[in-house]
Amino acid sequence: MPADVIATAPGDRLRITEIFHSLQGESLTAGCPTVFIRLTGCPLRCGYCDTDYAFQGGEWMGLEDILARVASYRTRYVTVTGGEPLAQKSCLKLLRKLCDGGYTVSLETSGALAVDEVDPRVVKVMDLKTPGSGEAARNRYENLDALGRADQVKFVICDREDYLWARGIIGRYRLDAICEVLFSPSHGRQEPAELAEWILEDRLPVRLQLQLHKQLWGNERGR
Ligand code: SF4
Repeated sequence: MPADVIATAPGDRLRITEIFHSLQGESLTAGCPTVFIRLTGCPLRCGYCDTDYAFQGGEWMGLEDILARVASYRTRYVTVTGGEPLAQKSCLKLLRKLCDGGYTVSLETSGALAVDEVDPRVVKVMDLKTPGSGEAARNRYENLDALGRADQVKFVICDREDYLWARGIIGRYRLDAICEVLFSPSHGRQEPAELAEWILEDRLPVRLQLQLHKQLWGNERGR
């Protein structure tokens, strides 16, 4: 079983799988040029995971080297992702430093680890794992208390059962009153048009999103 938290090396270093410049494929800034910092490691094993290459490997990078690399791309938006970025404690410091640097920063997180210490300037894009992911038991619902209007909760919908489950969660926690709610059809498992019809039938207060980067570049890594 993978550990929840990767040991932090001395000197504010993080284990990094990749840093790259692309168009944001999801969330409310979809389509915007963005620098992605993909941290290595994840304690979850979702059945549909398309970034399992980030589970292991990577290279240690100092915080200052990471910031210098980000600056070289000259873009406004930075997304810290994984893996599960919060599995490395120094991620919190990285997020704070990026905000201090004037970037518009978002964090993609599984929802399985605490988000209450994340810098409030960071836009949290937090998954709630559906039954189809195989990891729904890892959802940390107390995280919802740490979300605000600028944040987003994302459900990856694998099938009708997932849809009905997510609809129930939205109602139970009044999610749409807390933050933006995103529905993503699981690539190759849920037909997007069918999901769109369900949302319309139920007048569900959610935003359907398709993964722009996959439409543009398929599963190409670093895109
Ligand atoms: S949380 Fe994300 S990175 Fe981790 S297994 Fe699930 S989909 Fe993959």
